[in-house]
Amino acid sequence: MGYDVKIFEALHKAGGVLVYGIPEFRLPKERVVQEEIENVKSLGVEIETDCVIGKSTTIDALMTEEGYDAVFVGSGAGLPRFMHIPGEQAMGVFSANEYLTRSNLMGAFSSKSRTPIMHAKKAVIVGGGNVAMDAARTALRLGAETHIVYRRSEKELPARAEEVEHAKQEGIIFNLLTNPVEIHADEKGWVKSITCIRMGLGEPDESGRRRPVEIPGSEFEIECDCVIMSLGTSPNPLISSTTKGLEINRRKCIVANEENGQTSKEGVFAGGDAVTGAATVILAMGAGKAAAKGIDEYLSNK
Ligand SMILES: Cc1cc2nc3c(=O)[nH]c(=O)nc-3n(C[C@H](O)[C@H](O)[C@H](O)COP(=O)(O)OP(=O)(O)OC[C@H]3O[C@@H](n4cnc5c(N)ncnc54)[C@H](O)[C@@H]3O)c2cc1C
Repeated sequence: MGYDVKIFEALHKAGGVLVYGIPEFRLPKERVVQEEIENVKSLGVEIETDCVIGKSTTIDALMTEEGYDAVFVGSGAGLPRFMHIPGEQAMGVFSANEYLTRSNLMGAFSSKSRTPIMHAKKAVIVGGGNVAMDAARTALRLGAETHIVYRRSEKELPARAEEVEHAKQEGIIFNLLTNPVEIHADEKGWVKSITCIRMGLGEPDESGRRRPVEIPGSEFEIECDCVIMSLGTSPNPLISSTTKGLEINRRKCIVANEENGQTSKEGVFAGGDAVTGAATVILAMGAGKAAAKGIDEYLSNK
């Protein structure tokens, strides 16, 4: 549409979750993602990496001091949730985000990497979504006997059926109707096992899925040297807390108009996971296009 556009990216590489979250075996980085990034650059878009909005600079500063007429926030939902159970601070416990980012973005699967990752003998992945399947299949490729621990039954697994199928075909072991209660560490502070409890299913909860209920006295231990928490993510509050007048909802997502991405702050638009919470690539791309039209309309009317 003829505007000068610049992208500010916190990490050293552009591409978001497509680069640091989704593993190479599901989405080839050079052949698919990098090609898309080169397309964007060839349109004349400038990309500045290693720039954390909210720390390196702020949206308010971009608009008042650096001459930007409009801003689009597409900062995703990268803040991992934890269970807050005893032992979760032990070494060898990761969030799925950290585990996948180390492996995908930092090349930590290779012993030559400057940030190598532990090659676990036996890994427990807690959670049943697509991210859990990616973390499990990555741990498997790094040589671990890999277990998924999920508190509901197979019917309620939030991951897509084909992801579950691929995980099973590759030999991931599913411990369903099972929930962790405590992680145990050895004398040096490294994970050595996880205590879990068997679950039954009660009445449906507010999500419509049957509520998991603990079966008293059914605790048992799984020996393992790595635990990967994959319990969902929410938007990082850094941008909302450093931008005056940017409304967020109770899930910490930026409130934006679905049609054009307009937020509560004039000239600031938003879309993707930062608005919806963790969702899909196609929704995020659609929101970007809708916001581009919204920004064009806003600037044309100004
Ligand atoms: C492991 C995994 C597997 C997935 N698999 C699929 C799948 O198979 N299919 C599918 O459709 N979806 C999948 N998703 C979801 C999908 O990747 C996301 O919905 C999508 O990437 C959201 O795009 P986005 O642009 O909103 O955010 P992101 O892709 O998260 O990009 C946000 C970018 O903003 C940057 N950023 C954050 N904060 C700041 C800041 N303060 N300053 C500057 N930059 C910042 C981040 O570094 C990141 O590069 C998966 C997600 C994960 C984690």
